[in-house]
Amino acid sequence: MNIHEYQAKEILRTYGVPTPKGYIAFNADEAVQNANKLGGNLWVVKAQIHAGGRGLGGGVKIAKSINEVKTLADKMIGMRLVTHQTTSEGKEVKKVYIEEGLNIKQEFYISIALNRTLEMPMIIASSSGGMDIEKVAAETPDKIAKVCIDPTIGFQKFHGREVAFKLGLAKETINGFIELVSNLYRVYKENDADMVEINPLVLTGDNKFLALDAKINFDDNALVRHKDIEELRDLDEENPAETEAKASNLSYVKLDGNVGCMVNGAGLAMATMDIIKYEGGEPANFLDVGGGANPQTVAKGFEIILKDKNVKAIFINIFGGIVRCDRVANGILEATKITQVNVPVIVRLDGTNANEAKEILKNSNIENIISASDLAEGAKKAVSAARSGK
Ligand code: GDP
Ligand code: MN
Repeated sequence: MNIHEYQAKEILRTYGVPTPKGYIAFNADEAVQNANKLGGNLWVVKAQIHAGGRGLGGGVKIAKSINEVKTLADKMIGMRLVTHQTTSEGKEVKKVYIEEGLNIKQEFYISIALNRTLEMPMIIASSSGGMDIEKVAAETPDKIAKVCIDPTIGFQKFHGREVAFKLGLAKETINGFIELVSNLYRVYKENDADMVEINPLVLTGDNKFLALDAKINFDDNALVRHKDIEELRDLDEENPAETEAKASNLSYVKLDGNVGCMVNGAGLAMATMDIIKYEGGEPANFLDVGGGANPQTVAKGFEIILKDKNVKAIFINIFGGIVRCDRVANGILEATKITQVNVPVIVRLDGTNANEAKEILKNSNIENIISASDLAEGAKKAVSAARSGK
């Protein structure tokens, strides 16, 4: 789960990581009130969406007067912000964060992220942070320091020193830096985050580090023990079909292709997407209906898959291990009565009572249901149906 910058900064502050002062605004008048509350003569207006690259996309602007705050906030709220991390349609900006503006000398990058290969959290840092960090990583990877933290010993000062030396930090800033990384590690660990990222991190005149941006990503599987964090969820930022699927206990992830998939078991669902690609098609989604596959879950699955207008065919691939194929076949027929399905549905059922299931489908005489005897045939038929619409 992702949260907004302003929420991440609130968390950082409670862990002793300094950030600029700022307030959230839902309209231009609130933005003006916030700027007045902050005082000073320089403000930053920042679009709050769940995507990075806002600076380059026009979602972070400096204002030199209250009037400018108003104009910028007015323009930003309601706009669709396109960044390299959003789709080409972008994301609608519903709120902006008004922050005190600062003069920046140098921008650092720092994050703690789970390295899944090494199975350890890793500190990633660079003294060439800011908006071009992806370019720095691609072109001059030696400018990026990486230090792993063995979770059984946790963060120790030597980790911090190692990063500080690699960054070439001035002596008088090193202790402050170590304290900062130590606090970031606590944010990461105590909240079951996958990633805590600050870019840019800046050094102030009195040698203190300040987080100018903040992104935190949490492990969904650990949210059960962080009710306070779950409350920060912003459903506006999530795909509505994915939210609806979650509420019905289906795991659904929308993708860009046109072959809808309904599968039982995550492994089989992955294999199904692979084989669709192998046959030259593109899956429209990942959908694991779980062990049940009864009429209600299948109907809900149809409903969710068909919300995506790109879907031109649906491939149902169910292995009847605990669930019997004949029951699933009847479930599919029932489901087509609950949810109107107007695209070809290719069904591959294998396992217990697979033959009975095939009979049931054959005798149903529903013309858009096409039976397939194995995975490869099913994928072939689904890809070709999605192409021709038949
Ligand atoms: P991102 O592009 O989504 O990562 O958004 P950031 O919050 O990182 O902002 C993008 C850039 O705006 C930063 O890298 C800074 O260069 C600049 N920026 C952000 N806050 C300030 C500020 O208070 N003063 C100045 N001068 N620049 C800022
Ligand atoms: Mn940033």
